[in-house]
Amino acid sequence: MLSGEQSNTENFLVKLFAVVPLLALAASVPFAWGWGLGWVDLGLAAGFYFLTGLGVTIGFHRYFTHGAFKANRGLRIALAVTGSMAMQGPVIGWVADHRRHHAFADREGDPHSPWRFGTSPAALARGFWHAHMGWLFDREKTNAQRFAPDLLADRDIVRIDRLFPLLTVVTLLAPAVLGGVITLSWWGAVTAFFWASLVRVALLHHVTWSVNSLCHLIGDRPFAARDKSANFWPLAIASMGESWHNSHHADPTGARHGVRRGQLDISARLIWLFEKAGWATDVRWPKADRLGRKLNPGHSLSLRRSARRA
Ligand SMILES: [Zn+2]
Ligand SMILES: [Zn+2]
Repeated sequence: MLSGEQSNTENFLVKLFAVVPLLALAASVPFAWGWGLGWVDLGLAAGFYFLTGLGVTIGFHRYFTHGAFKANRGLRIALAVTGSMAMQGPVIGWVADHRRHHAFADREGDPHSPWRFGTSPAALARGFWHAHMGWLFDREKTNAQRFAPDLLADRDIVRIDRLFPLLTVVTLLAPAVLGGVITLSWWGAVTAFFWASLVRVALLHHVTWSVNSLCHLIGDRPFAARDKSANFWPLAIASMGESWHNSHHADPTGARHGVRRGQLDISARLIWLFEKAGWATDVRWPKADRLGRKLNPGHSLSLRRSARRA
């Protein structure tokens, strides 16, 4: 069931980049509690975290990039708007980058592979930084004409793409306004802005970037893929199902990434609800025959029940 041990370097990198900043943030909570942080801030932070995060995972990623389902116009617009409010860039550029990632995963041309500089400890440390956020500072832009012509031809989406600066203002100000109105105080607006705008955006950024960095370095690899993608369970909830990244690379157009039993995937559950509501159709649920062919030796399929049903 195991695919080798983590090297000391890998183990160290995980602790350094993924765990330590989170622990520092968690440690600041009791200090701030009662004067600079309260239930309203936490509620707003969680609400905006999941609203914008699901806009990215369901919208930008599974729907716009990979076409895992068809959406009616209202859902399509809502997904583009909420995903834009995650401040990860306008929708068309995001999709073009991510399609390029799948086209060249962990090879020359991949915008963010941790393996870009080699496999020595120093090269991997450099690669981790590059895949996590260093690539965002690259000046090269993915050619949207080549990688996202479908979105460039969609007037609704082009309009939302251009509204990105405005949506950035909205996503930063809305929590502050709500915090002020709910607590009827300026201080409530300030603390909501800090936790539900700044901290929330930063946290979601790091979780999304971790899918690019950590999930191409460490974890289980039950499925054969041409790249180094891996399933990293500790991020399943925070990433809303996106850290089942090996399964995703094995079956990129699948609507559910946590395909095996016990693998939490909040995004897939929401898509299921959208399907029930009639807003999403032609959903590409995991199929045992499609996935079974890609299984690595020594791994069993053990698909979750809802997956086998579909
Ligand atoms: Zn990937
Ligand atoms: Zn993808």
